[in-house]
Amino acid sequence: MEKAIITVAPTGEGPKKSDNPAVPTTPREIAEDVFEAYQAGAAVAHLHMRDEDENPSMSTEKFIETVHLIREKCDIILNLTTSGDVTAEDEIRLAHLRELKPEMASFDCGSMNWMNETLFINHPAFLEKLGYTMQEHNIKPEIEIFDTGMVYNSLFYKKTGVLKSPIHYQFVMGAPGGIPASIENLIFLTRMIPEDSTWSAFGIGRFHLPIMAATLALGGHVRIGFEDNIYYTKGKLAKSNSELVARGVRMANELDRGVATVEEARKILGLA
Ligand code: ZN
Repeated sequence: MEKAIITVAPTGEGPKKSDNPAVPTTPREIAEDVFEAYQAGAAVAHLHMRDEDENPSMSTEKFIETVHLIREKCDIILNLTTSGDVTAEDEIRLAHLRELKPEMASFDCGSMNWMNETLFINHPAFLEKLGYTMQEHNIKPEIEIFDTGMVYNSLFYKKTGVLKSPIHYQFVMGAPGGIPASIENLIFLTRMIPEDSTWSAFGIGRFHLPIMAATLALGGHVRIGFEDNIYYTKGKLAKSNSELVARGVRMANELDRGVATVEEARKILGLA
């Protein structure tokens, strides 16, 4: 098996400081957290922005500021969300990609009910535009899969040229409205994707540890951080993203996977 790539997802759009005071929400806090996670072993950082009230934001200015602060400290692979605010207009979801041309960005391969509260809309016209915009700027899509039908969509986009092989998948397991986080479902998803794909997975909340252990055993890559889970163990909040990353590193090493450096991750993911 190849070495495990650890992606840190430090913020997301959900948790606030009232949930866990260590959640980074300003550009400076996010950049410092990413650097700590990089030092702990993360090779990729998946970034979301927040506004002054910690609400989700797709502010291009905040992305620019955060990316510049991170780049002063390290060359971690940057993976910017395109879904940081489910109410944002399509052009706003693309603006930071055109501006920053990150190595990676998320591509949410379908629509769903979001957290039993609202709609998470990724219209086919938007996904087509997103896929071609990423190709134009040499950005590798990370295909986020919240449920089985989204894998099927990705195969359609591979056929039509919106997505290029090899595809990199991120299986999001246990999001309300998406596929339940079980090891059976994880194996099922890995069997649906093209053979030349790379893949990563994570479970939301209490499913974080079992899905991480199963993913490492199956040869996948892992995503770790407050976007998906704010606890270290049951009832005990994590002190930082880097504390969670350090545990992932120990687990990968104990399972004899080892952890990919940034340069090794670039090779595995086929980044230029
Ligand atoms: Zn995200």
